[in-house]
Amino acid sequence: MDRNQQLFEQAKAIIPGGVNSPVRAFGSVGGIPRFINKAQGAYVWDENQNRYIDYVGSWGPAIVGHAHPEVVAAVCQAAEKGLSFGAPTENEIRMAEEIRHIMPSMEQIRLVSSGTEATMSAIRVARGFTGRDNIIKFEGCYHGHSDSLLVKAGSGLLTFGHPSSAGVPEDFSCHTLVLPYNDVEALQQIFTSQGDSIACVIVEPIAGNMNMIPATTEFVKALRTLTEQHGSLLIYDEVMTGFRVALGGAQSIHGIKPDLTTIGKIIGGGMPVAAFGGRADIMACVSPLGAVYQAGTLSGNPVCVAAGLKTLEIIQRPNFYTTLSARTQELSNGLAAIAHEANIPFSTRSIGGMFGFYFTAELPNCFADMQHCNQVLFKAFFHTMLSRGVAFAPSAYEACFVSAAHSSEIIADTLGLAAEAFTEIARTV
Ligand SMILES: *Cc1c(COP(=O)(O)O)cnc(C)c1O
Repeated sequence: MDRNQQLFEQAKAIIPGGVNSPVRAFGSVGGIPRFINKAQGAYVWDENQNRYIDYVGSWGPAIVGHAHPEVVAAVCQAAEKGLSFGAPTENEIRMAEEIRHIMPSMEQIRLVSSGTEATMSAIRVARGFTGRDNIIKFEGCYHGHSDSLLVKAGSGLLTFGHPSSAGVPEDFSCHTLVLPYNDVEALQQIFTSQGDSIACVIVEPIAGNMNMIPATTEFVKALRTLTEQHGSLLIYDEVMTGFRVALGGAQSIHGIKPDLTTIGKIIGGGMPVAAFGGRADIMACVSPLGAVYQAGTLSGNPVCVAAGLKTLEIIQRPNFYTTLSARTQELSNGLAAIAHEANIPFSTRSIGGMFGFYFTAELPNCFADMQHCNQVLFKAFFHTMLSRGVAFAPSAYEACFVSAAHSSEIIADTLGLAAEAFTEIARTV
C-alpha cells in the first residue's frame, strides 16, 4: 500500500493541488510527492517509511540538520513558558543583536514571520523613504508572493510556465520593472532613462530560485554604484543566502553594504521567522517611529525566536562554515566528475552550503541560460535518485542545500548512488 499516494489523493480533495506551497506538488517532475513523517539530521522519512538523504533542507532552514537536539530543547523550553504574548520579549532584542553582529549593515531590524513579509515590507519602506513608486527586480529572482513582486519570479512560477500570477492587477505590477539578471548594460540604460523614479532595486545577490546563479562582480558593482548615484535603495534579498553561502551572507562575500536586507529561512531554524533591516535612517520610517505601517500578531514569536537564537549560536561555532563548504564542494565536484564519466552534459557550482547542478555543459548565468538546461535528463535523474533514497528539490529551477549533519560518509553514499543513476540515465534516455 502506497501511503504517499493515498494521502496525496486525500489532500487533493481538500487542499488545492494537495499542498500548501506549489513546488511541493512535484508538478514539474511528475509523480507522487512524498509525505514526510519525520526528519533527523541529514535524513527525512516518508509515510511509507522510506528514508531519504535530504538536500532540500526544508528549502534552506535546516542548516544545522533536522531536529537538532539543542534547537528542539530550546523550542520546548520556550513553549513551556507560553506560546505567544503579543508583547515585547527580551529574546527579540538578543535575536536582533545577534543578527546585527553577523550582518552589520542591518543597523535596525524588524522581525516578521515569512520571507514574503520581509521583502514586501522592505519595498514599502524603500518607497516610503524615497517617495518614489517604481522598483526594479530581475528575471528569475523570487522575492516571495506579494503582488508587486510576482512579476517574472522564479522556481514554482517558472516551472509551471506562468511568468506571473493571475489576480495581480496591472496597476500593481506596472511599477515593477524587470531586467535580465547579470545584465549591466540593461541596468545602466534604465537608470539613465528613469533613474530618478526608482525607489529601489531588489536582488537575490546569489540567485537560488532559478537554480543557483551568482551575480557577477561587475553586476554587483553596477548595482551599488547606480543606486547610490540616483538616490535609489539597494535591497539584498538574502532570505535564502543569509547564513547559507557564508555566515554573513552574500553581502559579506561581495563586500557590499546594502541599504536594506531581508533574511528568513535559516534565522527561524525551521520555525517561521524572517526579518528586514538596514540603515538606521531608513528604518526610522517604520511604524511606530515613522509613517510606513508594518505589523504582525505573531511577529517575534517567543517559540520561533528561541529556535532562531539557538540556530544562530550553533552556526557561529568554530569551523562550521569551513566544514559545511568542504562537504558541499565534495558533493558538487563529485557529481560533476561522475556525470562527465557517463558522458552526460552537466555542470555544478557551490558556495558555502548551497549548490546548483545543471544539465548543460556551460554554467548558466541568467534565467535565459537556465531555460536551455535539459529538463528530460533532470526529471530522469531526480526520480532515479529519489527511488534510491536521495531527495533533491523537485524542480530544475531550485538550488540544493547541504547541512552540518551531512557527513563525508553521507556525501560518499550520495555519490555512489549518483554514479548508478547517471549510468542508468545514460543508457535509457
Ligand atoms: C524563500 C524566499 C522568499 C520567500 O520566503 P517565504 O518565507 O517563503 O515567504 C523570498 N526571497 C527569497 C530569495 C527566497 O528564497
